[in-house]
Amino acid sequence: MAPDDPGQTGQHRVVIVWGGFGGLFAARALRHRDVTITLVDRAQHHLFQPLLYQVATGILSEGQIAAPLRDVLKRHRNVQCVLADVVDVDVPGRRAVTAAPPMITRAP
Ligand SMILES: Cc1cc2nc3c(=O)[nH]c(=O)nc-3n(C[C@H](O)[C@H](O)[C@H](O)COP(=O)(O)OP(=O)(O)OC[C@H]3O[C@@H](n4cnc5c(N)ncnc54)[C@H](O)[C@@H]3O)c2cc1C
Repeated sequence: MAPDDPGQTGQHRVVIVWGGFGGLFAARALRHRDVTITLVDRAQHHLFQPLLYQVATGILSEGQIAAPLRDVLKRHRNVQCVLADVVDVDVPGRRAVTAAPPMITRAP
């Protein structure tokens, strides 16, 4: 995954690695900028970690603290979400190297 040549599209491409609080704030800061953003996370959802205690104590369900990233960012027209595991960042090549996200398996 690499930035396009801005000369081709007229827009710079930004890759935001991870959709945690940091990634969401970055997307918000760039929302009205003339850039195309690809946000990569290995999960489809943003986990609101400060409310994990409420899930652990049964006050909230998991779904109430894990919103799909695509929903959270649906009004951000310049953001595309990609489900992938970032395994390396090639700084000179300006690329984030990705792989398929790890499989979540459950005990039988
Ligand atoms: C129980 C608990 C309570 C907390 N309470 C508070 C609080 O009250 N106030 C406060 O300020 N902070 C609190 N924190 C801390 C706060 O949640 C973290 O500081 C914050 O979430 C860190 O944000 P982040 O963007 O760095 O990473 P995170 O929010 O952890 O997001 C990381 C994201 O990166 C993704 N990811 C990770 N590795 C890869 C990879 N290789 N490839 C692709 N995606 C990847 C994950 O799927 C995840 O979506 C709490 C944390 C916990 C666990």
